[in-house]
Amino acid sequence: MRRKALVIGANRGIGREIAVRLASDGFRICVSGRNLEQLEEGVVPECRKAGAESVETLVFDMTDAEAVRKEYERVFGDDTPDVAVYNAGCNADNLFAFMDDAQWEKVLRTNVDGFFHTIQPLVGNMIARKFGRIVVISSVSGQAGQSGQVNYSAAKAALIGAAKALAREVARKNVLVNVVAPGVIDTDMVKDLPKEQVLPLIPMRRYGLTGEVAGAVSFLCGPDSSYMTGQVLGVNGGLYI
Ligand code: NDP
Repeated sequence: MRRKALVIGANRGIGREIAVRLASDGFRICVSGRNLEQLEEGVVPECRKAGAESVETLVFDMTDAEAVRKEYERVFGDDTPDVAVYNAGCNADNLFAFMDDAQWEKVLRTNVDGFFHTIQPLVGNMIARKFGRIVVISSVSGQAGQSGQVNYSAAKAALIGAAKALAREVARKNVLVNVVAPGVIDTDMVKDLPKEQVLPLIPMRRYGLTGEVAGAVSFLCGPDSSYMTGQVLGVNGGLYI
């Protein structure tokens, strides 16, 4: 049986591209989103077209641990994924001096608690099978810090710490945990950035493409990265070196 890959937050942007790429790599695909219609109209047919043997959909808000647990039980039973890509995330930018409780709470709860709610339930079976690949999408903001993003930088740095610690815990069981840290990638998340001010900061002088992040994830889910764990792979056009 082909290996099964779950992409969390796959209905648009980087996650959608990752799901399609893993489909073309030969994985059975599971995609999560908050809206079933969006999944069924977009990423699901794209994954089928890319050659996925099966495409399963899960619908949950990852801040809701109980909703995640129920969907995992309904869709997976014991056939939990061999590969999990933790991609979903959000920002709520503001200068720290003006940041309110809601902006702090939303970004920390979503990005950090979401990791626990969605990844923790999968690790036991990966350990038991002695195979697993976990890829966490962090950000250059979690590596370098970004003004206006104290909350987001904290959350994305937390994910790097969590991935490194988990990598140490499970390495002996052939469960490998790595991080991809994108720079500025052309998706909804960056559509309001002042492009003329951002581009001069990027040595390659362009935004990244979702496919360029998906390529790095594909590598970390595939056989060529079999001796890599606890690593942070930057896909950032030289923004952070
Ligand atoms: P988008 O804003 O296009 O997509 C974000 C995804 O996260 C959507 O699928 C969204 O679902 C999902 N999501 C957000 N909140 C929740 C939640 N509470 N529960 C479940 N799903 C949720 O972002 P990108 O594709 O650009 O970003 C993907 C990842 O890459 C994120 O983790 C982001 O932080 C990271 N990243 C992006 C960069 C960029 O420049 N674009 C740079 C560095 C990192 P829904 O559609 O339902 O809202």
